[in-house]
Amino acid sequence: MQQARGEPQDFDRVLTSMCTEPHPRAREAAERFLATNPGDPGTYESVTEMEATAVEMLGTVAGLEDPAGYITSGGTEANIQAIRIARNRAETDDPNVVAPTSAHFSFRKAAEVLGVELRSGPVTDHRADVEAMTELVDTDTVAVVGVAGSTEYGAVDPIPALAELATDADALCHVDAAWGGFYLPFADYDWQFEHADIDTMTIDPHKVGQAAIPAGGLLARETALFDELAIDTPYLESATQVTLTGTRSGAGVASAVAAMEALWPAGYSDAYDRAMDNARWVADALESRGHEVFGPELPLVAADLSVPMTDELRERGWRVSKTGAGELRIVCMPHVTRSMLRSFVADLDWY
Ligand SMILES: *Cc1c(COP(=O)(O)O)cnc(C)c1O
Repeated sequence: MQQARGEPQDFDRVLTSMCTEPHPRAREAAERFLATNPGDPGTYESVTEMEATAVEMLGTVAGLEDPAGYITSGGTEANIQAIRIARNRAETDDPNVVAPTSAHFSFRKAAEVLGVELRSGPVTDHRADVEAMTELVDTDTVAVVGVAGSTEYGAVDPIPALAELATDADALCHVDAAWGGFYLPFADYDWQFEHADIDTMTIDPHKVGQAAIPAGGLLARETALFDELAIDTPYLESATQVTLTGTRSGAGVASAVAAMEALWPAGYSDAYDRAMDNARWVADALESRGHEVFGPELPLVAADLSVPMTDELRERGWRVSKTGAGELRIVCMPHVTRSMLRSFVADLDWY
């Protein structure tokens, strides 16, 4: 079951990844735009126009008219930039960000790089505990973070309540929907810009959006928020730059547009339905074998399988991973089929 050297990982047994096979049109678009750089918009004009289209489409997915934003290298950059906006906008010399412990580790990078204190509030059933987070907020709080589709459990925080908490503190509300953003439009949660007074959002085409890597997304309700990031760019045609990286992947931008044009909304809706059916099926299969299961809230299942068992599964070629608490975690991405899951469960029964 070892992958041949020099060959990319195939997806036959990948149950851990938050990424998936790009849609064929996304793959083709990425190749065509490989040698373009949206970091230099004066020179690479057509990919720059495509980036505007990508942001517009991401806004549609996330319930935001006239969005500001750009295609990042991934969710990590988008989260760092959102926290940077919040820090730069605030007046304090001692900024802090309040997030649930379920927030992605990229916020720890953001805190370290930006010199911001990260205050982590407890979760209940893997969702942010708003009351506990309220206790952590003070006059130096620059952002309140909510997660819409957590990396470990697929849990969705109570975003409207977190947005209110942010507003009361005169802080920004940032929602991290890096993984969940392309499943959530078809699920029943309040998570996006029309549901709450959210300021910024991370939503990644290169995960459930089925674009080629690298294509993350950062959206903001107000263009002015990006002014907080503007840096002068003396040798380029354009006067300022708000992105974190300089030279950027036009392949990611073009593939994000191609994927969204091919799949929004019907293709993504079908992918959600299939993934959710599969997640329910595997949750039932695990429960009926006596395992305790969390989810699926979104197409992600965590179960209390023993750690040695997950190591043996890895030896059989299954790419599975564990949560911080040691549970087996199965991410039902678009490439995960029912027959894959059947053969996975059959391997489990073999032990
Ligand atoms: C994957 C993920 C990230 C990080 O995104 P990258 O594209 O890996 O940088 C951030 N937040 C959440 C919720 C994620 O699932």
